[in-house]
Amino acid sequence: MAVNEITNNENNGREIKQLLMIKYGELGLKGKNKNQFINRLVKNIERAIADLPERKVSTSLGRITVPVLDDMPEVVSRLQKVFGIYALCPVLAVEKNLPAIQRAALQVLQESLPNGGEFKVESRRSDKRFPMASPEISKAVGGYIFAQTADKYTARMKKPQHIINVEVRDEAAYVYCGSYTGAKGMPVGTGGRAVVMLSGGIDSPVATWMAMKRGVNVEAVHFESFPFTSERAKEKVLDLAQVLAAWHNKPIKVHCVHFTEIQKAIHANCPEDYGITIMRRFMFRLAEQIARKNAAMAIYTGESVGQVASQTLESMYTINNVTNMPVLRPLIGFDKEEIVERAQHIGTFDISIRPYEDCCTVFLPAHPKIKPRLSEAVEMEQNLAIDELIAEALQKTKTYVLTPQGIKQFGEDDDE
Ligand code: ATP
Ligand code: MG
Repeated sequence: MAVNEITNNENNGREIKQLLMIKYGELGLKGKNKNQFINRLVKNIERAIADLPERKVSTSLGRITVPVLDDMPEVVSRLQKVFGIYALCPVLAVEKNLPAIQRAALQVLQESLPNGGEFKVESRRSDKRFPMASPEISKAVGGYIFAQTADKYTARMKKPQHIINVEVRDEAAYVYCGSYTGAKGMPVGTGGRAVVMLSGGIDSPVATWMAMKRGVNVEAVHFESFPFTSERAKEKVLDLAQVLAAWHNKPIKVHCVHFTEIQKAIHANCPEDYGITIMRRFMFRLAEQIARKNAAMAIYTGESVGQVASQTLESMYTINNVTNMPVLRPLIGFDKEEIVERAQHIGTFDISIRPYEDCCTVFLPAHPKIKPRLSEAVEMEQNLAIDELIAEALQKTKTYVLTPQGIKQFGEDDDE
């Protein structure tokens, strides 16, 4: 923010402007690439609040600031879904003079600790032209608060309840106390592109979120077996993608693959106990093709060792064999309880528990093979026209584009 923007809004030298100061963690470690990461983070912040009244997100000397109008709770909740942000500090930006800083500090303290309590002032002066050194600023601000409020607030140097931070920077002085926790991780778009296999269950939306958390741009692949699975089952997946889109900071594509003919062919031509194994081998083949078509480098799934028959190590070995692409399973060591907790935090849990049929459950064998053998699966697939089945499923794939507001476009495919 420019200084004149602050002074223009000044009201008789009193409190000026409320900002959110964005703290980013790991980004700082990225050396030469740091600017690239920060630019991406700023873009993602701008996108997250694009439909709110316009404002200018600025960066200067290791700080990103977002002006707040009268929409603090909304802006905070939007930005808590932007990966790469570690903390969001509500800040008062004031003119760089001691009385303005003192008044702002008192206001911040009264808002944070309305019933009084212990505090400490910590100051930092990056603008060395400011005439007072940091300890002097702290002392003058603490003294002012004490004088104005008598014994309501007491200064305490060791383990105070609240720390009032004063930062005297080139553009303004910032005063703040406390912060909201950010989503952490890396800004989406800094970690390459992957496809995620998104079912309507609890696990795969969490796996999608874990991919995005590390900066990965995702596209979802969903296998549907219409008419064995209903329109509502698909709607559920699109609703999940809508929730995830808010964390993605840009629309999410969902490729809905027509899986029915493949399932019918497996059911008609392969032994029942290998049905799931072979079906999942097809899922990975299709996911890989869609990944290649969209320049994605990996496939994510919501698998966790031992959860169901297809998630034993023997099953994963036999299933994984159809692809050379990295298959990443961020939930691999999680218990269901931990996954549920995270799904609640993300906002997908309530959608995931809606009753529905998944393509996996439609042809579910009574006794799926828990330790399938690769050689047997390969032999059983001799009865299937693998390439034709895959080509047909891909040809009938429909792509939807989901934003936090719902379906944006519908079509074969679209590149932003
Ligand atoms: P989830 O809760 O994610 O459905 P799950 O515990 O039910 O997982 P499975 O049904 O064995 O486990 O599926 C394992 C993984 O395979 C899922 O996490 C998901 O990544 C993928 N998957 C399963 N069914 C589908 C589907 N219909 N469309 C896309 N991906 C699927
Ligand atoms: Mg499932």
